[in-house]
Amino acid sequence: MKEKFRRFMIGRYGADSLNQFLCVASLACLVVAMISKFQLFYYLGLALLFYSYFRMFSRNISARTAENYKFYNMKQSLDSWINSRKSRWAGRKQYRYYACPQCRQKLRVPRGRGRIQISCPRCGNQFIKKS
Ligand SMILES: [Zn+2]
Repeated sequence: MKEKFRRFMIGRYGADSLNQFLCVASLACLVVAMISKFQLFYYLGLALLFYSYFRMFSRNISARTAENYKFYNMKQSLDSWINSRKSRWAGRKQYRYYACPQCRQKLRVPRGRGRIQISCPRCGNQFIKKS
């Protein structure tokens, strides 16, 4: 039986981090559906589960690898966004945060210095803000 399954999986994609995420998300949806009796979560959980099995047994390895790469990039940018929010929250008493009106570069200035002129290190634009 184990040998049969091993032979079946030859040339197929298998598991990756996107599949792990899909399995956990489908499980979470099914649990929410059980608790809330909200049918939408049940179908969503089943869809995620079927999609993860489809990816696992797929023979189009390059497409699945590209999906996993996209997922990895999205996860990275979400993680860095969360980390920047955390550091802004931690430094909220010492610093104020502004975006450059010209290039949208995020700038950090010390608090409590009155009206200051800020020059953007990225584009050189200068503007005046209260710190
Ligand atoms: Zn700028």
